[in-house]
Amino acid sequence: MNLLGDFNLLRPTSLDEAVKALSGEGAQPIAGGTDLLPNLRRGLSKPKLLVDLSALDHCSDIVALPDGTVRIGALVTLEALVDSPLIPEAVKQAALGVAGPTHRAQGTLGGNLCQDTRCVFYNQSDWWREGNGFCLKYQGDKCHVVAKSDRCYATYHGDIAPALMVLEARAEIVGPEGSRRILLAELFREKGDDHLTLSPGEILLAISLPAMKGWNAAYEKARVREAIEFPLAGVAVALKREKGRIAGLRVAITGANSAPLMVPVDELVGQEWGDAVAETLGKQVRKTANVLKSTITGAKYRRRMLLALARKLASQLWIKAA
Ligand SMILES: Cc1cc2nc3c(=O)[nH]c(=O)nc-3n(C[C@H](O)[C@H](O)[C@H](O)COP(=O)(O)OP(=O)(O)OC[C@H]3O[C@@H](n4cnc5c(N)ncnc54)[C@H](O)[C@@H]3O)c2cc1C
Repeated sequence: MNLLGDFNLLRPTSLDEAVKALSGEGAQPIAGGTDLLPNLRRGLSKPKLLVDLSALDHCSDIVALPDGTVRIGALVTLEALVDSPLIPEAVKQAALGVAGPTHRAQGTLGGNLCQDTRCVFYNQSDWWREGNGFCLKYQGDKCHVVAKSDRCYATYHGDIAPALMVLEARAEIVGPEGSRRILLAELFREKGDDHLTLSPGEILLAISLPAMKGWNAAYEKARVREAIEFPLAGVAVALKREKGRIAGLRVAITGANSAPLMVPVDELVGQEWGDAVAETLGKQVRKTANVLKSTITGAKYRRRMLLALARKLASQLWIKAA
């Protein structure tokens, strides 16, 4: 059976051409293809047209602007992110944790951020999914993770989004209605089968990182083996310490919900890091995370790892800033 289906491939050289092509029904962008192609081979979607973004100008550069902002084109590869002196350490840590060297040489930042959500009932062969009556995310009408659920609970497992989110990254989007800029966090929504807020025809063009003077940030992921593996739980923390107090704190998680999410931690700003603050941070992470049985690894372990990583990173950044 040909699960890949028949589709056309277009490689536009201008943004106008790309946006126009993507506005048509059944069109989908492809960048490095490291997420999309394995999914297509499993029959997980049937696009009529793949719009290859790789020939677009000015999308593969990392540029420092006069005000200190760093603009990263969506087609910058993860390998180039890791190698660039302009990229903050937390983002490099996240990019370096993605898959293996060949994936990072081919995979792009835009593709990483816009990657599909994953689930143990979805990332399977066609015959496996059919034997299970398919699922709410694709071809079926039931979520096997949460029975009788109103929505799909497939999980977002991208590594880089949380690291960028704690650094107040903005996304530059272009589409049929022109261009717009949003906070990166607003690119996502908590809906496993429709987790991006992009409208038809829109593509992610670039990410901008403001200069964040006095902040330190870090990212760490939990995985069963130190090799090619999506984050079972991933945490990014950015912290600013001034006069023995937390002057700024930002925490984001991945591998837990259908979107990478910011954890509300404003109440901790102004306090001194210690056991009580670590306890409250853990509570906030627990409240934000909705870890379910969407991977083969148990939800309890993933939930515990989120709490442990958040406390560990915040504590390390606090000490580093002393
Ligand atoms: C074995 C394996 C292990 C992996 N491990 C990890 C991991 O540990 N962590 C992790 O984060 N990822 C992982 N990945 C997923 C993937 O390799 C990376 O996320 C990679 O960065 C995706 O980039 P890409 O350019 O190849 O995306 P593509 O496959 O080209 O695209 C991915 C999705 O994004 C859309 N898209 C691409 N570019 C744009 C754009 N500019 N605007 C709008 N939509 C766009 C595509 O339509 C598609 O839906 C893994 C993949 C494999 C196969």
